[in-house]
Amino acid sequence: MTQAKPTRPLPRPGIMDIHAYVPGKSSAPGVAKIYKLSSNESPLGASPKAIAAYRTLADKLADYPDGSSTRLRETIAKRYNLDPARIVCGCGSDDLLHLLASAYIGPDDEGIFTTHGFLVYEIAVLAAGGKPVIVPETNLKADVDAILAHVTERTRMVFLANPNNPTGTYVSMAEIKRLHDNLPAHVMLVIDGAYAEYVRRNDYSSGMELVRAHDNVVMTRTFSKIHGLANLRLGWAYVPDHVADVLNRIRGPFNVNGPALEAGIAAIEDGDHVAYAAEHNEKWLAWLSEEVTKAGLTITPSVANFLLVHFPTTLGKSALDAEQFLTKRGLIVRNVASYKLPNCLRITIGTEEATKLIAQALHDFVKQ
Ligand SMILES: *Cc1c(COP(=O)(O)O)cnc(C)c1O
Repeated sequence: MTQAKPTRPLPRPGIMDIHAYVPGKSSAPGVAKIYKLSSNESPLGASPKAIAAYRTLADKLADYPDGSSTRLRETIAKRYNLDPARIVCGCGSDDLLHLLASAYIGPDDEGIFTTHGFLVYEIAVLAAGGKPVIVPETNLKADVDAILAHVTERTRMVFLANPNNPTGTYVSMAEIKRLHDNLPAHVMLVIDGAYAEYVRRNDYSSGMELVRAHDNVVMTRTFSKIHGLANLRLGWAYVPDHVADVLNRIRGPFNVNGPALEAGIAAIEDGDHVAYAAEHNEKWLAWLSEEVTKAGLTITPSVANFLLVHFPTTLGKSALDAEQFLTKRGLIVRNVASYKLPNCLRITIGTEEATKLIAQALHDFVKQ
């Protein structure tokens, strides 16, 4: 039997199964002042030193950047006591997640992530031609035993955001170690530490020691959250030598731009700005968690820079109603229906002003 010839170029199988990522909204029509609490951006912005470093490149836009991000890798290595040869930088950590999937996952291979895991994992697995395997969570938290129960001969990668977006929950280092101990050697554990700097828990670790000690663990990090550089698109991964070799073969030769490199170096060196952002978040996350609870809504306790708020069906008003109510006040939050959380909204911890307005608005919404 001969197959009809396609009349136009066709993408590989799996590509058309992808639902394109829909970012958090950034406007509220007809509202004068808006507070964007929909993309987990830093309310404190970038370090003034990072902004100044970014500006130094304005006169050099015609030049190619350093394609191996050497100074940035050395700065990160010094800050965290890592081997610079094992750091790979990317155009946001999304870039690195896609590179990992495309290098290690092929047709019929499986990539594991959890029900409410970060949406980019599913996109990366499908884009690579692989099969997404979605593992149930327990109380909106990744469940190590459930993940292990889904590992097969075909599993190539396990993606785990720790803490996870959009739930804000985390898995302790002891549990991550147990997960790793029970994974076959051919399976790569990808720990996404986008919010690692915010976590204030003694049983938490971003996973660097695990990467250092094993051939099948990688950690990704971003400058988009606590460093306040989302617009520059900068991320990095700490990986075993053999994985660095692979990623350096397939990444774009200039996948990080010069202004991002300069700003990233200054951001890492400005430890005070990071500490300031972490303290701001610790204070207002706790405050908002309490206020939302007082308003009669439930929250999922978060260790990150956002809060998942639940709108139970018994309230008689939906998460969508709440989103519209908040938008009218210029408070833009994240609808998380695409994360299979239709009764929830994710709210970024903003400035003091925005956080107080959100708390007041949620009180008013419940009462109205
Ligand atoms: C925001 C976020 C990232 C960061 O993505 P970038 O491409 O670095 O901006 C990665 N993982 C998770 C879970 C996130 O929420």
